[in-house]
Amino acid sequence: MKKPVVDYDLCIGCGSCVELCPEVFELREDGAKAFVIAEDKCNTCDCEEAAGVCPVEAISISEQ
Ligand code: SF4
Repeated sequence: MKKPVVDYDLCIGCGSCVELCPEVFELREDGAKAFVIAEDKCNTCDCEEAAGVCPVEAISISEQ
């Protein structure tokens, strides 16, 4: 299964991934970081696209 992973050191909280894929990503820590809230939803929306919209390349997709 493909799982999106956010590198919190890189994430700047821009919200692009949340806009694109709100079932999977959520902004937390007062909007400072994106967290993966439901990685199993990754099969229904394209998280590789989310990885593509991230301006700092903080999202990677791990195959597990
Ligand atoms: S698109 Fe990237 S930088 Fe923006 S909130 Fe998501 S993980 Fe963070």
